[in-house]
Amino acid sequence: MTDRIIPIVDARQSLPVPAPRPRPAGPVRDTLGRGLRDLRISVTDRCNFRCTYCMPKEVFGPDYAFLPRSDVLSFEEITRLARVFKDHGIAKIRLTGGEPLLRRNLERLVEMLANLGGLDLTLTTNGSLLSRKARALADAGLNRVTVSLDALDDPTFKAMNDVDFPVEKVLEGIGAAADAGLAPIKINMVVKRGVNEHAVLPMARHFRGTGHVVRFIEFMDVGASNGWRMDDVVPSADIVRMIDAEAPLAAADPNHEGEVAERWRYRDGSGEIGVISSVTQAFCRSCNRARISTEGRLYTCLFATAGYDLRALMRGGADDAALGEAIARIWSVRGDRYSEIRTAETAKLRKIEMSYIGG
Ligand code: SAM
Ligand code: SF4
Ligand code: SF4
Repeated sequence: MTDRIIPIVDARQSLPVPAPRPRPAGPVRDTLGRGLRDLRISVTDRCNFRCTYCMPKEVFGPDYAFLPRSDVLSFEEITRLARVFKDHGIAKIRLTGGEPLLRRNLERLVEMLANLGGLDLTLTTNGSLLSRKARALADAGLNRVTVSLDALDDPTFKAMNDVDFPVEKVLEGIGAAADAGLAPIKINMVVKRGVNEHAVLPMARHFRGTGHVVRFIEFMDVGASNGWRMDDVVPSADIVRMIDAEAPLAAADPNHEGEVAERWRYRDGSGEIGVISSVTQAFCRSCNRARISTEGRLYTCLFATAGYDLRALMRGGADDAALGEAIARIWSVRGDRYSEIRTAETAKLRKIEMSYIGG
């Protein structure tokens, strides 16, 4: 059982901004001493895929109520938040969703964020629209992309995206992104037992030697609709063993503090892979990531059950100083470490959906 009581609430419910309390000078830290470095912004809750582990069709069907346009943060609001977060130490911004490339004129937002200066700007996409958009995104100032791809064979990939989308088009998108200079590209593959384990080795083989880095992700209990069971998780250690048996690997140091993926390099120098072991090897200790939902709620954990309504503050007339103070107070009371305390019971909580909060 869990060692604390987690309230079961509507995950889109708002939490009150914490009251002021004394804080040490310097960059804001949470209750576990973790700083604020990485901001993930969801620019849309809509998606053209229905990945079975993220937006299963039975839940995200024709009647699903996506956010109305008036609820969605404007590019100006997103840029303002980014600026205020930057003042609190954010060095990296990842645009995500839903499918971020469905948001019209996304390159304009990228340009606005790039103009803030000094930020590492990245994007996570399913790749379906990337061949058309890669050049404009790069020209606007995007630094890199992560492309999700769960298999290299059409039957498996189509069964997972559940909209009959072919592998070839995603590979075209990856090629276009590389041509546009958005490299090195990371390829995210969620591994689900009995569904795409057989696609692990072909994926590793395909991208070995290309400079792109495949990251194998354990299937997580995000949201409340993907029917997660521990039995469906393929531990990262098994994946490393599987690949190592064919192409020997050696552990590599993290690129930076708080890096999500554990890095492994091929001993023959032909590149590297990553594994993201949110389930079997929690990395909460160094988690410096904040997330902004499509409608401007701040979530301090991917597995949160409620967020803080920054949009209400902005639309209510708060100036940048007040907004910054609210963010600092929220971060300073943060104590999230969901993956460290995950149990079969917590997995059933009504957590925020991944498509709403972004990956
Ligand atoms: N639509 C974009 C995409 O698929 O890349 C961006 C949003 S998606 C929510 C971000 C990442 O979360 C993707 O790489 C996706 O594979 C991953 N993801 C979604 N649901 C997941 C789950 N249940 N477990 C692990 N990863 C998941
Ligand atoms: Fe869409 Fe990405 Fe979720 Fe797949 S993982 S349904 S592409 S948001
Ligand atoms: Fe960070 Fe929450 Fe994931 Fe732990 S469970 S690594 S606190 S997002």
